[in-house]
Amino acid sequence: MKPKYIFCTGGVVSSVGKGLTVAAIGRILKARGLKVAIQKLDPYLNVDPGTMSPYQHGEVFVTSDGAETDLDLGHYERFVDENVSRLSNITAGQVYLTVLEKERKGDYLGGTIQVVPHITNEIKRCIKLLGKRTDADVVIVEVGGTAGDIESLPFLEALRQLRTEFKRRDTLYVHVTFLPHIGATDELKTKPTQHSVRELRGIGIQPNVIIARTDYPVNNEIISKIALFCDVDEDAVIPLQTADNIYAVPLMIEETGLGDFILNRFRLEAGPPDLHEWREIAGKCRSAQEKLCIGIVGKYVELRDAYMSVKESIAHAAVHLDQDVDIRWIHSGELEKGKRLDELNDLDGIIVPGGFGYRGIEGKIAAAKFARERKAPYLGLCLGMQVMCIEYARNVLHLDDASSSEFDVSTPHPVIDLMLEQRAITDMGGTMRLGEYPCVLQPNSAAALAYGKNEVLERHRHRFEFNNVYRETFAANGVNFSGLSPDGVLVEIAELQDHPFMLGCQFHPEFLSRPNRPHPLFSAFIQASIEYRDELGRIRQRPSLDLDRA
Ligand code: GLN
Repeated sequence: MKPKYIFCTGGVVSSVGKGLTVAAIGRILKARGLKVAIQKLDPYLNVDPGTMSPYQHGEVFVTSDGAETDLDLGHYERFVDENVSRLSNITAGQVYLTVLEKERKGDYLGGTIQVVPHITNEIKRCIKLLGKRTDADVVIVEVGGTAGDIESLPFLEALRQLRTEFKRRDTLYVHVTFLPHIGATDELKTKPTQHSVRELRGIGIQPNVIIARTDYPVNNEIISKIALFCDVDEDAVIPLQTADNIYAVPLMIEETGLGDFILNRFRLEAGPPDLHEWREIAGKCRSAQEKLCIGIVGKYVELRDAYMSVKESIAHAAVHLDQDVDIRWIHSGELEKGKRLDELNDLDGIIVPGGFGYRGIEGKIAAAKFARERKAPYLGLCLGMQVMCIEYARNVLHLDDASSSEFDVSTPHPVIDLMLEQRAITDMGGTMRLGEYPCVLQPNSAAALAYGKNEVLERHRHRFEFNNVYRETFAANGVNFSGLSPDGVLVEIAELQDHPFMLGCQFHPEFLSRPNRPHPLFSAFIQASIEYRDELGRIRQRPSLDLDRA
């Protein structure tokens, strides 16, 4: 059977949670037993976000097949619980690159290459390819940005064309907008939504569903107004108020009746939705009484999207252990200047996440030193593992000025060094060690106990690695290399012996954690943090929820 297509556009403003909304729609369809595939179309000209700063783009999410993609793919995987591939993130850069490479080969000899039809055809090919490859019942396609952006025009034109190419009843256009609230009159305003729909119509797309994001309750009058002005059925105007936790979003969308509306539109038969796992998770989020303080030490902490999957992984593990987490964002740049070091005292566990470049490194090393000396739980993710090894080299093994050759090319002790296969690489884009690789665990290590198995697959994104010249010195002096590549060459996990939980991994476990299946390393870290908190006799009760929301 040919898949049905949901095309999702954004209006009014960005950052209203379109990706999350799309992921939640995917979940309510999957809950009915349908096979769902999701794709994000990003109108920027970079081939992928791998070369962009987190300030520009937030987290780069890595797929199992090694694509560096938009962080919305993380929401898709976490909510729909299916691994996506590089086919799920198409950028204008990729589309133009493909078309221009064909042009150079002479594939269009004699022709003029134009946005319509050449660019739009390539966009349509990518959309249809995902449907074919995944054998999905429903393909959900989200376009980044908002209607009216110059660069998204070719994408919207491609979506418009697909309405006539597919049967009309096989497509559904969903427009996600925002209703601003005017404080002086305590009113929600629909005008920006009306304008945004007009903008879409100008491009030839009449939305079938409007999801109106808002921070306030929406009354029937507002719904009728949107329906009338935007020419959609009243039951297709879906108000979506900001949730107190994101796992409630699929439940909120289900309650609006959108799932059944989509099924009717597509004339699809499916069973009743099974969302019991999500009800449990959302319920646990609300009922957790104990609080846990976890610090994330990074250099982009003012932009939390940069650590999206880390933040979510902490929440998944904490919810399953009945904890309400207070994440403290600690700027490594400030620690480096000797500021805010006292804030480390108040943490129950410390995470140093991935990162690139030397800025803030000394602050991260200070955090690792603190965790080692105080025996506070520490989880190092990629760069966080490298930092843990550098700190150990300097302060325990007395390898003065030890560093990574990424930050200091002339260090006398490059305990972290460029990987062999990286040495000849000069291009920056898509050239790191990327995607899923196996890792063999040492029996009875903290890692093996956490995973409960001897071999795992984890996702990577790095150029540097632990330098094997130093392996023996570390191993003879308290560091257990408990995870190695199957050939034994690459260090994948390092853990300290004389410490309750200080573990660093060269991969990114945060990409595999799911709300219904927390990642074992995060679970072990959160468990160790609970024990550390309790040993110190810290009493952290969560304030009543109503107070929390005030
Ligand atoms: N910058 C380090 C490397 O390339 C770590 C990368 C990361 O944390 N993702 O090896």
